[in-house]
Amino acid sequence: MIDNINWYPGHMKKTRELIQENLKMVDLVIEVIDARIPISSRNPIIDELVQSKKRIIILNKSDLSDRSENDAWADYFKSIGNLVVTMNCMSGGGVNQLYKALDKEQNEKNAGRPIKKPLRMMIVGVPNVGKSSLINRMTGKRSAQTGDRPGVTKGKQWLSLKNGMQLLDTPGILWPKFEDPKAGLNLAFCGSIKDEILDTATLAMELIGILSEEYSDLLMERYKLEEISDMPLSTMEDIAMKRGFILPGKRIDYERCARTVLDEFRSGKIGHITLERRENYD
Ligand code: GDP
Repeated sequence: MIDNINWYPGHMKKTRELIQENLKMVDLVIEVIDARIPISSRNPIIDELVQSKKRIIILNKSDLSDRSENDAWADYFKSIGNLVVTMNCMSGGGVNQLYKALDKEQNEKNAGRPIKKPLRMMIVGVPNVGKSSLINRMTGKRSAQTGDRPGVTKGKQWLSLKNGMQLLDTPGILWPKFEDPKAGLNLAFCGSIKDEILDTATLAMELIGILSEEYSDLLMERYKLEEISDMPLSTMEDIAMKRGFILPGKRIDYERCARTVLDEFRSGKIGHITLERRENYD
């Protein structure tokens, strides 16, 4: 289903090398993940790449995810040795907490040093998790380059933050992992993979299937449904009827319904939803 993605082995090798090169220059790595899909929005290669460096995991887009799941995932990532900050890069929520954690790291780095050195860091993550938004938040500028180019672009520079810390100006872009078809689907639900590579109606139906099981109350409330069928197609039809997505000849406009459900999920209108629940990943 999801196979024509632009990540070739050569591409991956180059990305890996670029990130490795940049890693040598930093004290700390800030790994941004999508709190709605904390597993699918990570690439396991990061663990291998970062290894000896201290890491802060940013559970970003926490405004869209399930609050209790944010806490459960934060505890999990802490339990395996990371610092964790739950953030919303749109509003700036969590920024103060991030700075507190960074201050502590900088103090530790400089303990016993006659001359204090600024903390140097870089941001990494798969496309669309909010790396550029975080850079912009931290620098207070529209400086980060957006776009899904792998690795770190040439001509790298250090951005000086107000507190004197140094941030690499372009993030390390990792490729998403597609080995697990579920990860591909999760990334597509969250809009991290272009819609064109998937059939919108099928994608929305898959999402409705998951929401029917995990968040049926939210789905019922949003679309004023009296009950949820076992069959996602029926639910899609119920939603279309409620919203009046009917074409001439009284045919259901599946396409419009699918787009609406996907858009409303992505923008958080259906509610705070985490597609990967902590309890299912032990
Ligand atoms: P990058 O590809 O990792 O650099 O991601 P971007 O910073 O370009 O963000 C991808 C999309 O997610 C953009 O539309 C952002 O506005 C949005 N975004 C980033 N952070 C957040 C967040 O915390 N909450 C919400 N709701 N949207 C966010």
